[in-house]
Amino acid sequence: MEFRYSTEQELFRRSMREWVAKNLEPRAREIDKGEIGIPKEVISGLVDLGVFGLAIPEEYGGHAIPGEEPLYAMIAIQEIARGDLSMSTSVYTLLTAGWAFMINRFGTRQLKEEVLPRVARGEIFVGASLTEPGGGSDLGKIKTRATRKNGSYVVSGEKAYISGVKECDRLGWPSGHCTLVSTDPDKGHRGQTYLFVPANSPGMTYSVYDDMGRMGLSTGGLVYKDVEVPAYCLLGEEGQGFYHLMQSFNFGRLLVVAACTGAIERGLEISAEYCKQRHTFGRPLIKNEAISFEMVNDWMQFDLLKLNVQRAAWMIAQQTQDPGSISDKDINKTIATCKCLAPTLGHDVARHGMMYHGAFGYTKETPLEMMLRGIMSYEVGAEGGLNVMRGIIARDLWGDVASPFKA
Ligand SMILES: Cc1cc2nc3c(=O)[nH]c(=O)nc-3n(C[C@H](O)[C@H](O)[C@H](O)COP(=O)(O)OP(=O)(O)OC[C@H]3O[C@@H](n4cnc5c(N)ncnc54)[C@H](O)[C@@H]3O)c2cc1C
Repeated sequence: MEFRYSTEQELFRRSMREWVAKNLEPRAREIDKGEIGIPKEVISGLVDLGVFGLAIPEEYGGHAIPGEEPLYAMIAIQEIARGDLSMSTSVYTLLTAGWAFMINRFGTRQLKEEVLPRVARGEIFVGASLTEPGGGSDLGKIKTRATRKNGSYVVSGEKAYISGVKECDRLGWPSGHCTLVSTDPDKGHRGQTYLFVPANSPGMTYSVYDDMGRMGLSTGGLVYKDVEVPAYCLLGEEGQGFYHLMQSFNFGRLLVVAACTGAIERGLEISAEYCKQRHTFGRPLIKNEAISFEMVNDWMQFDLLKLNVQRAAWMIAQQTQDPGSISDKDINKTIATCKCLAPTLGHDVARHGMMYHGAFGYTKETPLEMMLRGIMSYEVGAEGGLNVMRGIIARDLWGDVASPFKA
Protein backbone atom coordinates (compact mmCIF):
# COMPACT_ATOMS: atom_id res chain seq x y z
CA MET A 1 0.00 0.00 0.00
CA GLU A 2 1.30 3.44 -0.90
CA PHE A 3 -0.17 6.62 0.56
CA ARG A 4 2.11 9.06 -1.28
CA TYR A 5 1.93 10.49 -4.77
CA SER A 6 4.66 9.25 -7.11
CA THR A 7 7.51 11.71 -7.79
CA GLU A 8 5.92 12.66 -11.13
CA GLN A 9 2.46 13.13 -9.61
CA GLU A 10 3.91 15.29 -6.84
CA LEU A 11 5.83 17.42 -9.34
CA PHE A 12 2.64 17.89 -11.33
CA ARG A 13 0.71 18.86 -8.20
CA ARG A 14 3.33 21.42 -7.25
CA SER A 15 3.42 23.01 -10.69
CA MET A 16 -0.39 23.20 -10.65
CA ARG A 17 -0.37 24.83 -7.21
CA GLU A 18 2.21 27.39 -8.22
CA TRP A 19 0.41 28.31 -11.43
CA VAL A 20 -3.00 28.49 -9.72
CA ALA A 21 -1.76 30.76 -6.92
CA LYS A 22 -0.14 33.14 -9.40
CA ASN A 23 -2.59 33.13 -12.28
CA LEU A 24 -6.01 31.97 -11.11
CA GLU A 25 -6.51 33.02 -7.49
CA PRO A 26 -6.03 36.74 -8.24
CA ARG A 27 -8.75 36.51 -10.92
CA ALA A 28 -11.38 34.54 -8.98
CA ARG A 29 -13.48 37.54 -7.98
CA GLU A 30 -13.44 38.85 -11.55
CA ILE A 31 -14.67 35.43 -12.75
CA ASP A 32 -17.40 35.50 -10.10
CA LYS A 33 -18.79 38.72 -11.55
CA GLY A 34 -20.15 36.52 -14.32
CA GLU A 35 -19.39 38.78 -17.25
CA ILE A 36 -16.30 37.27 -18.83
CA GLY A 37 -16.71 33.54 -18.21
CA ILE A 38 -13.39 31.77 -17.68
CA PRO A 39 -10.71 34.08 -19.12
CA LYS A 40 -8.90 32.87 -22.24
CA GLU A 41 -5.53 33.22 -20.50
CA VAL A 42 -6.71 30.89 -17.74
CA ILE A 43 -7.78 28.27 -20.29
CA SER A 44 -4.52 28.61 -22.23
CA GLY A 45 -2.51 28.35 -19.00
CA LEU A 46 -4.35 25.14 -18.12
CA VAL A 47 -3.70 23.84 -21.65
CA ASP A 48 0.03 24.55 -21.20
CA LEU A 49 -0.05 22.56 -17.97
CA GLY A 50 -1.65 19.73 -19.94
CA VAL A 51 -4.82 19.66 -17.87
CA PHE A 52 -7.36 19.13 -20.66
CA GLY A 53 -5.36 16.24 -22.13
CA LEU A 54 -4.83 14.30 -18.90
CA ALA A 55 -7.58 11.79 -19.67
CA ILE A 56 -7.12 11.69 -23.47
CA PRO A 57 -4.79 9.16 -25.10
CA GLU A 58 -1.86 10.31 -27.25
CA GLU A 59 -3.45 9.12 -30.49
CA TYR A 60 -6.23 11.70 -29.92
CA GLY A 61 -3.94 14.56 -28.99
CA GLY A 62 -3.75 14.05 -25.23
CA HIS A 63 -1.11 12.62 -22.93
CA ALA A 64 -3.01 10.27 -20.63
CA ILE A 65 -0.88 7.85 -18.66
CA PRO A 66 -2.92 4.64 -18.90
CA GLY A 67 -4.29 3.71 -15.49
CA GLU A 68 -3.35 7.05 -13.94
CA GLU A 69 -5.95 9.27 -15.62
CA PRO A 70 -8.24 9.47 -12.57
CA LEU A 71 -5.34 10.35 -10.23
CA TYR A 72 -3.90 13.08 -12.43
CA ALA A 73 -7.34 14.52 -13.16
CA MET A 74 -8.16 14.49 -9.43
CA ILE A 75 -4.91 16.32 -8.60
CA ALA A 76 -5.51 18.94 -11.30
CA ILE A 77 -9.09 19.64 -10.25
CA GLN A 78 -8.21 19.84 -6.54
CA GLU A 79 -5.55 22.40 -7.26
CA ILE A 80 -7.74 24.46 -9.61
CA ALA A 81 -10.52 24.55 -7.01
CA ARG A 82 -8.11 26.03 -4.46
CA GLY A 83 -7.63 29.04 -6.72
CA ASP A 84 -11.22 29.77 -7.70
CA LEU A 85 -13.45 29.13 -4.69
CA SER A 86 -16.52 30.08 -6.74
CA MET A 87 -16.04 26.59 -8.34
CA SER A 88 -16.49 28.02 -11.86
CA THR A 89 -13.05 27.13 -13.23
CA SER A 90 -12.88 23.71 -11.61
CA VAL A 91 -16.36 22.79 -12.82
CA TYR A 92 -15.69 24.02 -16.37
CA THR A 93 -12.53 21.89 -16.43
CA LEU A 94 -13.92 18.82 -14.71
CA LEU A 95 -16.93 18.65 -16.99
CA THR A 96 -14.88 18.98 -20.16
CA ALA A 97 -12.16 16.56 -19.02
CA GLY A 98 -14.60 14.12 -17.41
CA TRP A 99 -17.08 13.83 -20.26
CA ALA A 100 -14.22 13.69 -22.80
CA PHE A 101 -12.94 10.67 -20.87
CA MET A 102 -16.35 9.10 -21.47
CA ILE A 103 -16.32 9.99 -25.16
CA ASN A 104 -12.99 8.22 -25.34
CA ARG A 105 -14.54 5.20 -23.65
CA PHE A 106 -17.81 4.97 -25.56
CA GLY A 107 -17.42 7.13 -28.70
CA THR A 108 -16.91 6.04 -32.31
CA ARG A 109 -13.51 6.61 -33.91
CA GLN A 110 -14.84 9.52 -36.00
CA LEU A 111 -16.33 11.27 -32.97
CA LYS A 112 -13.13 10.83 -30.98
CA GLU A 113 -11.03 12.21 -33.84
CA GLU A 114 -13.24 15.27 -34.12
CA VAL A 115 -13.75 16.06 -30.45
CA LEU A 116 -10.83 14.87 -28.34
CA PRO A 117 -7.89 16.77 -29.91
CA ARG A 118 -9.94 19.99 -29.63
CA VAL A 119 -10.64 19.24 -25.94
CA ALA A 120 -6.93 18.67 -25.29
CA ARG A 121 -6.17 22.05 -26.89
CA GLY A 122 -8.79 23.74 -24.66
CA GLU A 123 -10.78 24.92 -27.68
CA ILE A 124 -14.17 23.45 -26.84
CA PHE A 125 -16.51 22.69 -23.94
CA VAL A 126 -18.00 19.25 -23.32
CA GLY A 127 -20.74 18.52 -20.78
CA ALA A 128 -23.71 16.29 -20.07
CA SER A 129 -27.38 16.87 -20.80
CA LEU A 130 -29.52 14.56 -18.70
CA THR A 131 -31.88 16.47 -16.39
CA GLU A 132 -35.30 17.45 -17.72
CA PRO A 133 -37.86 19.96 -16.45
CA GLY A 134 -39.76 16.96 -15.02
CA GLY A 135 -36.79 15.94 -12.83
CA GLY A 136 -33.17 14.90 -12.61
CA SER A 137 -33.01 12.22 -9.93
CA ASP A 138 -35.29 9.75 -11.70
CA LEU A 139 -33.46 9.60 -15.03
CA GLY A 140 -35.31 6.42 -15.99
CA LYS A 141 -38.34 8.64 -16.74
CA ILE A 142 -36.80 11.11 -19.21
CA LYS A 143 -38.98 12.10 -22.15
CA THR A 144 -36.54 13.49 -24.75
CA ARG A 145 -37.00 11.25 -27.80
CA ALA A 146 -34.65 10.20 -30.58
CA THR A 147 -35.76 8.32 -33.66
CA ARG A 148 -33.67 6.91 -36.50
CA LYS A 149 -34.04 8.63 -39.88
CA ASN A 150 -31.80 8.22 -42.94
CA GLY A 151 -28.83 7.09 -40.87
CA SER A 152 -29.16 9.90 -38.30
CA TYR A 153 -30.96 10.32 -34.99
CA VAL A 154 -33.67 12.98 -34.83
CA VAL A 155 -33.94 14.40 -31.32
CA SER A 156 -36.93 16.28 -29.84
CA GLY A 157 -37.50 17.28 -26.25
CA GLU A 158 -36.26 19.51 -23.48
CA LYS A 159 -33.46 19.48 -20.91
CA ALA A 160 -33.04 21.70 -17.86
CA TYR A 161 -30.27 22.92 -15.52
CA ILE A 162 -27.55 22.03 -18.00
CA SER A 163 -24.06 23.40 -17.33
CA GLY A 164 -22.22 25.12 -20.15
CA VAL A 165 -25.06 26.00 -22.55
CA LYS A 166 -23.67 29.46 -23.26
CA GLU A 167 -20.07 28.23 -23.48
CA CYS A 168 -21.13 25.59 -26.03
CA ASP A 169 -22.90 28.21 -28.10
CA ARG A 170 -19.92 30.57 -27.99
CA LEU A 171 -17.23 27.98 -28.72
CA GLY A 172 -19.40 26.19 -31.29
CA TRP A 173 -18.99 22.82 -32.96
CA PRO A 174 -17.67 20.31 -31.88
CA SER A 175 -18.48 21.49 -28.35
CA GLY A 176 -21.53 19.64 -27.12
CA HIS A 177 -23.25 17.54 -24.51
CA CYS A 178 -23.39 13.80 -23.89
CA THR A 179 -27.15 13.51 -23.93
CA LEU A 180 -29.51 10.88 -22.56
CA VAL A 181 -32.46 10.24 -24.89
CA SER A 182 -35.17 7.65 -25.16
CA THR A 183 -35.09 5.55 -28.33
CA ASP A 184 -37.72 3.07 -27.15
CA PRO A 185 -40.04 4.63 -24.54
CA ASP A 186 -41.94 1.38 -23.94
CA LYS A 187 -38.79 -0.14 -22.48
CA GLY A 188 -38.18 2.60 -19.87
CA HIS A 189 -34.52 2.90 -18.90
CA ARG A 190 -33.72 -0.16 -21.03
CA GLY A 191 -34.80 1.85 -24.07
CA GLN A 192 -32.48 4.77 -23.43
CA THR A 193 -29.54 5.79 -25.58
CA TYR A 194 -26.56 8.03 -25.02
CA LEU A 195 -25.77 10.49 -27.85
CA PHE A 196 -23.25 13.27 -28.24
CA VAL A 197 -25.31 16.25 -29.44
CA PRO A 198 -23.05 18.91 -30.99
CA ALA A 199 -23.58 22.56 -30.05
CA ASN A 200 -25.48 24.84 -32.43
CA SER A 201 -27.14 21.92 -34.25
CA PRO A 202 -30.08 23.29 -36.28
CA GLY A 203 -33.31 23.03 -34.24
CA MET A 204 -31.57 23.49 -30.90
CA THR A 205 -32.13 26.58 -28.73
CA TYR A 206 -30.94 27.45 -25.25
CA SER A 207 -31.83 29.76 -22.37
CA VAL A 208 -29.65 30.83 -19.44
CA TYR A 209 -30.77 30.76 -15.80
CA ASP A 210 -29.95 33.36 -13.19
CA ASP A 211 -27.92 31.21 -10.78
CA MET A 212 -26.81 32.21 -7.29
CA GLY A 213 -23.22 31.01 -7.72
CA ARG A 214 -20.62 29.52 -10.06
CA MET A 215 -21.08 32.70 -12.05
CA GLY A 216 -18.22 32.04 -14.48
CA LEU A 217 -20.05 29.06 -15.98
CA SER A 218 -23.60 29.19 -17.33
CA THR A 219 -26.45 26.85 -16.46
CA GLY A 220 -29.53 26.77 -18.63
CA GLY A 221 -32.21 24.95 -20.57
CA LEU A 222 -31.97 23.26 -23.96
CA VAL A 223 -34.86 22.70 -26.35
CA TYR A 224 -34.46 20.23 -29.23
CA LYS A 225 -36.89 20.41 -32.16
CA ASP A 226 -36.15 17.73 -34.74
CA VAL A 227 -32.42 18.07 -34.22
CA GLU A 228 -30.49 15.79 -36.58
CA VAL A 229 -27.58 14.07 -34.90
CA PRO A 230 -25.24 12.00 -37.11
CA ALA A 231 -25.16 8.29 -36.30
CA TYR A 232 -21.43 8.43 -35.52
CA CYS A 233 -22.33 10.53 -32.45
CA LEU A 234 -23.80 7.44 -30.78
CA LEU A 235 -22.02 6.68 -27.50
CA GLY A 236 -21.80 2.96 -26.83
CA GLU A 237 -24.77 0.85 -27.85
CA GLU A 238 -28.33 1.88 -28.61
CA GLY A 239 -30.58 0.90 -25.69
CA GLN A 240 -27.64 0.78 -23.26
CA GLY A 241 -27.48 4.53 -22.60
CA PHE A 242 -28.70 4.36 -19.02
CA TYR A 243 -26.04 1.79 -18.10
CA HIS A 244 -23.26 3.67 -19.93
CA LEU A 245 -24.32 6.80 -18.08
CA MET A 246 -24.17 5.11 -14.70
CA GLN A 247 -20.61 4.00 -15.53
CA SER A 248 -19.77 7.57 -16.59
CA PHE A 249 -21.08 9.11 -13.39
CA ASN A 250 -18.39 7.66 -11.15
CA PHE A 251 -15.55 9.42 -12.97
CA GLY A 252 -17.55 12.68 -13.14
CA ARG A 253 -18.44 12.51 -9.45
CA LEU A 254 -14.84 11.74 -8.50
CA LEU A 255 -13.82 15.03 -10.10
CA VAL A 256 -16.71 16.88 -8.44
CA VAL A 257 -15.50 15.65 -5.07
CA ALA A 258 -11.93 16.59 -6.00
CA ALA A 259 -13.19 20.14 -6.65
CA CYS A 260 -14.96 20.20 -3.28
CA THR A 261 -11.89 18.93 -1.38
CA GLY A 262 -9.61 21.48 -3.08
CA ALA A 263 -11.98 24.27 -2.08
CA ILE A 264 -12.37 22.90 1.48
CA GLU A 265 -8.61 22.73 1.97
CA ARG A 266 -8.15 26.35 0.84
CA GLY A 267 -11.20 27.51 2.83
CA LEU A 268 -9.72 26.01 6.01
CA GLU A 269 -6.35 27.65 5.31
CA ILE A 270 -7.97 31.06 4.81
CA SER A 271 -9.86 30.76 8.09
CA ALA A 272 -6.80 29.58 10.04
CA GLU A 273 -4.65 32.41 8.64
CA TYR A 274 -7.28 34.97 9.66
CA CYS A 275 -7.89 33.51 13.11
CA LYS A 276 -4.18 33.52 13.87
CA GLN A 277 -3.79 37.22 13.25
CA ARG A 278 -7.18 38.58 14.44
CA HIS A 279 -7.19 39.39 18.17
CA THR A 280 -10.14 39.76 20.55
CA PHE A 281 -9.88 40.07 24.35
CA GLY A 282 -6.11 40.19 24.13
CA ARG A 283 -5.45 36.96 22.26
CA PRO A 284 -5.71 35.53 18.76
CA LEU A 285 -9.12 34.14 17.78
CA ILE A 286 -7.55 30.74 17.15
CA LYS A 287 -6.66 30.43 20.85
CA ASN A 288 -10.38 30.12 21.65
CA GLU A 289 -11.31 26.48 21.63
CA ALA A 290 -14.86 27.28 20.51
CA ILE A 291 -13.24 28.35 17.26
CA SER A 292 -10.15 26.15 16.95
CA PHE A 293 -12.02 22.96 17.90
CA GLU A 294 -14.71 23.64 15.33
CA MET A 295 -11.97 24.14 12.75
CA VAL A 296 -10.34 20.92 13.93
CA ASN A 297 -13.65 19.08 13.57
CA ASP A 298 -13.91 20.34 9.99
CA TRP A 299 -10.26 19.48 9.31
CA MET A 300 -10.69 15.91 10.66
CA GLN A 301 -13.59 15.31 8.30
CA PHE A 302 -11.63 16.87 5.45
CA ASP A 303 -8.63 14.63 6.12
CA LEU A 304 -10.76 11.46 6.03
CA LEU A 305 -12.57 12.68 2.94
CA LYS A 306 -9.36 13.46 1.07
CA LEU A 307 -8.07 9.96 1.70
CA ASN A 308 -11.31 8.42 0.50
CA VAL A 309 -11.22 10.53 -2.67
CA GLN A 310 -7.74 9.22 -3.40
CA ARG A 311 -9.02 5.70 -2.79
CA ALA A 312 -11.88 6.34 -5.19
CA ALA A 313 -9.46 7.56 -7.90
CA TRP A 314 -7.33 4.48 -7.36
CA MET A 315 -10.40 2.18 -7.56
CA ILE A 316 -11.55 3.68 -10.86
CA ALA A 317 -8.02 3.39 -12.25
CA GLN A 318 -7.81 -0.28 -11.16
CA GLN A 319 -11.17 -1.08 -12.70
CA THR A 320 -10.27 0.64 -16.00
CA GLN A 321 -6.96 -1.27 -16.19
CA ASP A 322 -8.30 -4.60 -14.99
CA PRO A 323 -12.09 -4.81 -15.42
CA GLY A 324 -13.65 -7.00 -12.76
CA SER A 325 -10.81 -6.48 -10.27
CA ILE A 326 -13.05 -4.16 -8.24
CA SER A 327 -16.82 -4.41 -8.31
CA ASP A 328 -19.07 -1.61 -9.57
CA LYS A 329 -20.90 -1.76 -6.23
CA ASP A 330 -17.74 -1.06 -4.24
CA ILE A 331 -16.83 1.88 -6.46
CA ASN A 332 -20.39 3.25 -6.39
CA LYS A 333 -20.46 3.16 -2.59
CA THR A 334 -17.10 4.90 -2.19
CA ILE A 335 -17.88 7.62 -4.72
CA ALA A 336 -21.43 8.17 -3.42
CA THR A 337 -20.04 8.46 0.14
CA CYS A 338 -17.61 11.16 -0.98
CA LYS A 339 -20.22 12.96 -3.13
CA CYS A 340 -22.65 12.98 -0.22
CA LEU A 341 -20.19 14.26 2.39
CA ALA A 342 -18.01 16.69 0.42
CA PRO A 343 -20.50 19.44 -0.53
CA THR A 344 -22.00 19.46 2.97
CA LEU A 345 -18.57 19.76 4.58
CA GLY A 346 -17.69 22.46 2.04
CA HIS A 347 -20.85 24.34 3.00
CA ASP A 348 -19.93 24.10 6.71
CA VAL A 349 -16.32 25.17 6.13
CA ALA A 350 -17.40 28.22 4.11
CA ARG A 351 -20.11 29.24 6.59
CA HIS A 352 -17.92 28.65 9.67
CA GLY A 353 -15.13 30.66 8.02
CA MET A 354 -17.50 33.55 7.32
CA MET A 355 -18.46 33.55 11.00
CA TYR A 356 -14.82 33.65 12.15
CA HIS A 357 -14.33 36.67 9.91
CA GLY A 358 -17.19 38.51 11.66
CA ALA A 359 -18.64 41.39 9.64
CA PHE A 360 -15.70 41.10 7.26
CA GLY A 361 -17.03 37.64 6.33
CA TYR A 362 -20.21 39.22 5.04
CA THR A 363 -18.26 41.27 2.47
CA LYS A 364 -16.83 40.24 -0.85
CA GLU A 365 -13.31 40.90 0.43
CA THR A 366 -12.99 37.23 1.43
CA PRO A 367 -13.72 34.46 -1.08
CA LEU A 368 -15.74 32.45 1.46
CA GLU A 369 -19.21 33.71 0.50
CA MET A 370 -18.30 32.88 -3.11
CA MET A 371 -17.33 29.37 -1.99
CA LEU A 372 -20.63 28.96 -0.14
CA ARG A 373 -22.63 29.91 -3.24
CA GLY A 374 -20.53 27.67 -5.51
CA ILE A 375 -20.34 24.56 -3.39
CA MET A 376 -24.10 24.63 -2.78
CA SER A 377 -24.62 23.68 -6.44
CA TYR A 378 -23.41 20.22 -5.43
CA GLU A 379 -25.59 20.14 -2.35
CA VAL A 380 -28.82 20.95 -4.12
CA GLY A 381 -28.26 18.44 -6.85
CA ALA A 382 -25.60 18.86 -9.53
CA GLU A 383 -24.21 15.39 -10.43
CA GLY A 384 -26.88 13.82 -8.22
CA GLY A 385 -28.64 14.97 -5.05
CA LEU A 386 -27.39 13.94 -1.62
CA ASN A 387 -30.35 11.64 -1.01
CA VAL A 388 -29.73 9.96 -4.33
CA MET A 389 -26.19 9.25 -3.08
CA ARG A 390 -27.66 7.77 0.12
CA GLY A 391 -29.99 5.67 -2.05
CA ILE A 392 -27.03 4.30 -4.04
CA ILE A 393 -25.22 3.35 -0.83
CA ALA A 394 -28.33 1.68 0.65
CA ARG A 395 -28.91 -0.29 -2.57
CA ASP A 396 -25.30 -1.42 -3.02
CA LEU A 397 -24.82 -2.18 0.67
CA TRP A 398 -28.05 -4.03 1.46
CA GLY A 399 -29.45 -5.00 -1.94
CA ASP A 400 -32.57 -4.12 -3.94
CA VAL A 401 -34.81 -4.52 -0.89
CA ALA A 402 -33.25 -1.28 0.44
CA SER A 403 -33.19 0.55 -2.89
CA PRO A 404 -35.36 3.67 -3.01
CA PHE A 405 -35.12 3.52 -6.81
CA LYS A 406 -37.22 0.36 -7.20
CA ALA A 407 -40.79 -0.13 -6.12
C1 LIG B 1 -25.66 24.45 -10.81
C2 LIG B 1 -26.24 23.17 -11.37
C3 LIG B 1 -25.70 22.64 -12.53
C4 LIG B 1 -26.25 21.49 -13.09
N1 LIG B 1 -25.69 20.98 -14.24
C5 LIG B 1 -26.25 19.90 -14.84
C6 LIG B 1 -25.75 19.40 -16.08
O1 LIG B 1 -24.74 19.89 -16.61
N2 LIG B 1 -26.39 18.36 -16.67
C7 LIG B 1 -27.48 17.78 -16.12
O2 LIG B 1 -28.03 16.88 -16.71
N3 LIG B 1 -28.01 18.24 -14.94
C8 LIG B 1 -27.41 19.28 -14.29
N4 LIG B 1 -27.92 19.75 -13.10
C9 LIG B 1 -29.13 19.15 -12.57
C10 LIG B 1 -28.85 18.12 -11.47
O3 LIG B 1 -28.30 16.96 -12.01
C11 LIG B 1 -30.19 17.87 -10.78
O4 LIG B 1 -30.45 19.02 -10.00
C12 LIG B 1 -30.20 16.64 -9.90
O5 LIG B 1 -30.08 15.47 -10.66
C13 LIG B 1 -31.51 16.57 -9.07
O6 LIG B 1 -32.61 16.69 -9.91
P1 LIG B 1 -33.75 17.79 -9.64
O7 LIG B 1 -33.08 19.08 -9.42
O8 LIG B 1 -34.72 17.68 -10.74
O9 LIG B 1 -34.38 17.35 -8.27
P2 LIG B 1 -35.49 16.21 -8.04
O10 LIG B 1 -35.14 15.00 -8.79
O11 LIG B 1 -36.83 16.82 -8.27
O12 LIG B 1 -35.29 15.95 -6.47
C14 LIG B 1 -35.61 16.97 -5.53
C15 LIG B 1 -34.96 16.65 -4.20
O13 LIG B 1 -35.47 15.42 -3.70
C16 LIG B 1 -34.42 14.54 -3.42
N5 LIG B 1 -34.86 13.18 -3.74
C17 LIG B 1 -35.10 12.66 -4.96
N6 LIG B 1 -35.51 11.39 -4.85
C18 LIG B 1 -35.54 11.10 -3.52
C19 LIG B 1 -35.86 9.93 -2.77
N7 LIG B 1 -36.20 8.79 -3.36
N8 LIG B 1 -35.79 10.01 -1.41
C20 LIG B 1 -35.41 11.16 -0.79
N9 LIG B 1 -35.08 12.28 -1.46
C21 LIG B 1 -35.14 12.24 -2.81
C22 LIG B 1 -33.26 14.97 -4.29
O14 LIG B 1 -31.99 14.59 -3.73
C23 LIG B 1 -33.45 16.48 -4.29
O15 LIG B 1 -32.86 17.04 -3.15
C24 LIG B 1 -27.36 20.87 -12.48
C25 LIG B 1 -27.87 21.40 -11.31
C26 LIG B 1 -27.32 22.51 -10.74
C27 LIG B 1 -27.89 23.06 -9.47
